[in-house]
Amino acid sequence: MAIPDNIVDQVQARSDIVEVVSRYIPLQKAGRNFKAPCPFHNEKTPSFVVSPDKQIYHCFGCGAGGNVFSFLMKYENLSFPEVVEMLADKAGIKLPRFGPRKELTSLATQLYKVNELAIQFFQSCLPASREARDYLVSRGIGDETAKLFGVGYSPDSWDGVLKFLASKGIKGEIAEKAGLAIASERGGYYDRFRKRLIFPIFDIKGRALGFGGRVLDSSLPKYMNSPETYIYSKGRNLYGLNHTKENIKKAGYALIVEGYLDFIVPYQAGVRNIVATLGTAMTIDQVKLLKRFANTVIMVYDPDEAGETASLRNMDLFISEGVNVYIAELPKGFDPDGYIRKFGTEDFVKLTKASKNLFDYKISKLSARFDIKSAHGKASIAGEMLPTISRIENAVLRSNLVKKLAEKLSVDEDSIRQELKKVKPDYTMRVYSVSPVEIKKDSKSAQKMVLALLLEDESFVKKIRESLSPDEFKDSSVREIVKAVLDLTREERSIDAAKLMNYFENNDAATALISESVHLSGTLDNKERVLCDCIAKIKNDNVNDVLARLQEAIKMAHDSKDDTLVTKLVTEYTQLLKSKPVKKADPF
Ligand SMILES: [Zn+2]
Repeated sequence: MAIPDNIVDQVQARSDIVEVVSRYIPLQKAGRNFKAPCPFHNEKTPSFVVSPDKQIYHCFGCGAGGNVFSFLMKYENLSFPEVVEMLADKAGIKLPRFGPRKELTSLATQLYKVNELAIQFFQSCLPASREARDYLVSRGIGDETAKLFGVGYSPDSWDGVLKFLASKGIKGEIAEKAGLAIASERGGYYDRFRKRLIFPIFDIKGRALGFGGRVLDSSLPKYMNSPETYIYSKGRNLYGLNHTKENIKKAGYALIVEGYLDFIVPYQAGVRNIVATLGTAMTIDQVKLLKRFANTVIMVYDPDEAGETASLRNMDLFISEGVNVYIAELPKGFDPDGYIRKFGTEDFVKLTKASKNLFDYKISKLSARFDIKSAHGKASIAGEMLPTISRIENAVLRSNLVKKLAEKLSVDEDSIRQELKKVKPDYTMRVYSVSPVEIKKDSKSAQKMVLALLLEDESFVKKIRESLSPDEFKDSSVREIVKAVLDLTREERSIDAAKLMNYFENNDAATALISESVHLSGTLDNKERVLCDCIAKIKNDNVNDVLARLQEAIKMAHDSKDDTLVTKLVTEYTQLLKSKPVKKADPF
């Protein structure tokens, strides 16, 4: 049941984040902000920062971030309405529509049941959808496998599942609590999942927690999961673990992949010690859950994402928990599902066995990003490696890695040891040194930087609106946030990061990105210039992408001897090439 925006605003205005957070963890004053060891990952020195000015928090260790609502949702494992209700209660604001609390006691059982019924419904709709069946066939997923994982289809209807549930005596209100329906602004409810292939998500005991839905055409969002509900919290479960836990135990290690199909296709092919995260970053809860079955993990990654600073840092979570991490990188453009279909199971298993340990992997990624010969590059690499090393409990292992790092960087071991002593295992004081040279290297950071500046100053909003459309941001999280900011500011509302986060109430990645951006903008010098460079970089990257695609198309047209098409594409190619901004376009 959606709570009206004005009430949410009121509750937020009356709930000071510093006061709320200090009820749970002791905060220490640090300049204008407050600090504490992060409650969301394991650390000894504080990298969790709460800003009273911005009313947000951000952890520089695990990347968690959000406002007062998201803090409580995460910490207390509550839903957004429950958190609003709780804070409203404290502030003495009445929310009359909420029923008595005791209703929640049997809610979990009720929701499991509703989800089971919904699975039946979605499964019964699958045979009638040609598109869905064709898709499964194209992915090589057999009927038995689909059945085993409860794969179904949500028809193109606003009340398909609602009607079915109603016929079983289940009200819209409960369907909404299960995340299956959305309350309409005009009253009533409508189906959340429409025209999607449905993958139910189970917990380790096999109880149905929620659903993931994938579109079968090109509409967006491509993937949609259940929102956080009373029983479902996405960072607490691992997809498929209910089927594979025994095999993981037997094998002594687990393969970690990202999506449903990355899990299902290998499973069907006989790879049974596997789980999927269904999200971007691992959480400490997931690591702890997995650790019950194996002490070694192999992350099977798409190379684009594996090299990201956030992904690399995220893996420190395993080390903090004493889990060995290896990384298996797939060839560019492949996910586990596609790889197995093309090369077969044996090659897939070989590839995972050839994985690199986190230390070697991280250092090779960092060496590609920074200039390992320059002093600045060495410092940057050490700055990322030392927090990882410092998390290793075993002194012998730690000392060994210090030696290895010193060799790699060609610096003497003592200086590394000295730096290690100073290190906060959580990147707190990491320098966000953003020189234009580095910006040019990485398209994603250019997008993030623009977002940071967009949130920083209203005068930048105008410039960004004039020079970039949201679609030019290729990172989908950045794009969604940019869209929201541009929409909000069109109505001449001022941008307030803490309020903006409410638009992403069930999207941890988005709130974390917002809090990261807010802190990032605080570290930038010469902002006008940075903005200018980043916009140029984004535009240039996009043009290069189109050029690459055209090149591909030209090659294909050439191969199929379609001369008319070749001529047409070549003309398009050269025109685009000519229009390409030369080096540094000034977009203003
Ligand atoms: Zn943290």
